[in-house]
Formats: sequence, structure tokens, C-alpha cells
Amino acid sequence: MDYPNNRAEAKATGAKFYFTGIPCNRGHIALRKTKGSCVQCMKEDWKIDNDKRKEKPKSEAAKEAAKRYYERNKDAVKARANARSTTDVNNYKKKYKELNPELYKALTSVRKRRHRNATPKWITAEQKLAMRNLYLKAQELTKIAGERYVVDHIIPLISPEVCGLHVPWNLRVITQEENLKKSNKLLDTPKE
Ligand SMILES: [Zn+2]
Repeated sequence: MDYPNNRAEAKATGAKFYFTGIPCNRGHIALRKTKGSCVQCMKEDWKIDNDKRKEKPKSEAAKEAAKRYYERNKDAVKARANARSTTDVNNYKKKYKELNPELYKALTSVRKRRHRNATPKWITAEQKLAMRNLYLKAQELTKIAGERYVVDHIIPLISPEVCGLHVPWNLRVITQEENLKKSNKLLDTPKE
């Protein structure tokens, strides 16, 4: 495709892009936007802004807005999700994992199975979410307090006497130290 080779010409002809063939300040040899700059630079900047935005915890207002958006555009959101490539999904998961290490520490395969086995069938989506939020809370507290917080099963999932359930009311966020004290008391019981 033929592009004008300078902005003046692009403006005069109404072209959206032009191509000088000269590297930009960051060394890209790329199209430039008539009403903007090097497209490669613009992409980089968008990505930086986006990443920054994603790292910030969402405000309640933003969460509500996202929920409303989803309610209004369910079909489109679902279609977009289905259209995503496996690589994209895997990359996203990987990144989420990196950003939320505590959430995943709690979910090694053994624990995952133990949790699943102790989760009653009648548990609701809200209750599941409530539990997930406790893991996120532990993670948040760990970050803030500089001391590790964990999610503790008040009645342990595996114990010689009773078996606790993986349900919101059997979970609490405590420091790892408290948790260790507790498992020392229960000595013969596997820690959970
Ligand atoms: Zn550039």
C-alpha cells in the first residue's frame, strides 16, 4: 500500500497514516498516524498504560460498572471469551498467577483435591466467591503487613476426630504464625 511520505501530504490528502521510512525516537521504522505519532510507540504506550491499570486493585465502583456492562452485553462478552486463543488464555492465567501468588500457593494439587473433597455439593456460587475472597484477603494482608497471612480451616479438613468442611464459615484468615501454633497443638493432625 502507498502512504504519503510526510505529515503535510497526509493532511492535504486526508490520509490517516504516512510513512517516512525514518526511525522514530525509539528506533521504530513504522507507520505514523497523521493525528498522532509512530504507531509502534502508540502500541507500546497503550500496553504500559493497560498493564498499570490492571495491576491496580479495582475500586468497588469499577467492579459494579463491569458487572453492569456484563449484564447488558452478556452475549458479546461470552462470544469474545470463546474467541480467545488458548495461548492468550494461558498467558493471562500465568500473569494472574504471578500477580496473585498467595492464591495459588493455597492451591497445590494435593490441597486442591482435599478442598474439593471437603466441599459440599450444595455450596452456592456466592459462597465459593466468599471463600476465594478470603484467600485474596490473606494475600492482601501479607502484602500490607509484611507477615504471611493464611486461610485456616477452623475445624481441620483432616483430623482423627472430626472432618471439617471447605465452606466459608469454616474458614478464617490468620497469620501463618498463629496457624503454626495451632497445628503444633493438633500435633498428630496433618496441617491444612
Ligand atoms: Zn516508535
